[in-house]
Amino acid sequence: MYGKFQTYLQNELRAIEGAGLYKKERIIASPQGAEITLEDGSKALNFCANNYLGLADSERLVAAAEKAMKQRGYGMSSVRFICGTQDLHRQLEKAVAAYFHTDDAILYAACFDANGGVFEPLLTAEDAIISDSLNHASIIDGVRLCKAQRFRYANADMADLEEKLKEAQSCRFRIIVTDGVFSMDGNVAPMDKICDLAEKYDAMVMVDESHSAGVVGATGHGVAEQFGVYGRIDIFTGTLGKAFGGAVGGFTTGRQEIIDMLRQRSRPYLFSNSIPPMIAAAGIEMFKMLGESDELHARLQENVNHFRDKMLAAGFDIKPTQSAICAVMLYDAPLSQKFAAKMAQEGIFVTGFYYPVVPKGQARIRVQLSAAHKKEHLDKAIAAFIKVGKELGVI
Ligand SMILES: *Cc1c(COP(=O)(O)O)cnc(C)c1O
Repeated sequence: MYGKFQTYLQNELRAIEGAGLYKKERIIASPQGAEITLEDGSKALNFCANNYLGLADSERLVAAAEKAMKQRGYGMSSVRFICGTQDLHRQLEKAVAAYFHTDDAILYAACFDANGGVFEPLLTAEDAIISDSLNHASIIDGVRLCKAQRFRYANADMADLEEKLKEAQSCRFRIIVTDGVFSMDGNVAPMDKICDLAEKYDAMVMVDESHSAGVVGATGHGVAEQFGVYGRIDIFTGTLGKAFGGAVGGFTTGRQEIIDMLRQRSRPYLFSNSIPPMIAAAGIEMFKMLGESDELHARLQENVNHFRDKMLAAGFDIKPTQSAICAVMLYDAPLSQKFAAKMAQEGIFVTGFYYPVVPKGQARIRVQLSAAHKKEHLDKAIAAFIKVGKELGVI
């Protein structure tokens, strides 16, 4: 059998390569950070990690993880409800809930699992999920695993959301689901308007804070802080793999009964291993750090402003950046690939995206800023953008 299947796979892989969509991995031989060393010893400045607060190589988090590993061992070898819960797991869940001003939280191995396991235990075929068209793949998969009726509204389009809410009025329960920050444009979901519509049409609200927590809001506490909608969002999901340290782990946080039900019925929670004690301990330390000072968030904000202002002054066309994601618009797919390759030659890692990852004719370079970037890193990246931009006739 495998011979025929192998031929089929080889053809598919060739087609992926032919379409220019084959994903190659950069091999890093240093900690994640603003400056990274590659396998061949060369160095680069990294502008494509989700390391928004620069915590991926934090000495304080490494020390917390080390200490917990020595005291509590390497792993749990169990799901949470059998014998995989240490006090550290509960402490981290309490820290998540405190950060988001919610009742309680539940940990998962990843936010992919949090989103995969949130809908099916809560909703049935009588209910409606009304989802932003640009929501993350894990939300899309989670919705697929649930029997609720599906409605999709155009990205952050409140008129379209209202239409879909009207269409869903006959359902028993309704929930609006959105990313907090959308990863391609870096735009923020208009949570105040979403909450208003939710109240008008009797719907619940869920937001995935993966790219927004630690980043948006006056002190970086995410979209509820930014829009002043604490108490009006029923469910938050998020990751420990981006701003919150960059290791691994996800969570759902929100109303008590929702979290209680997920602990009883959510399949990725019930049937997948507990996160290791060192990750839980480092997560607790991370929330403690963020509670002591919002210095990292302030530095991130300064870096975003500096980068955006200098890029606009240089003549680049960039999406109005409201987050740590800055989309430098090129519109042309081959140009975006050539641009990213030339930036890499300059020692700057950025990512070129084009259709089908973004709409046709919307090719771009995505730049992700971090509190770890020093001013000279930003200025080196901007200088490289200007050099390559001139070479390729973009500016
Ligand atoms: C990254 C991301 C996830 C997945 O998070 P993991 O913890 O890495 O699984 C989920 N949702 C959104 C919006 C994301 O950006």
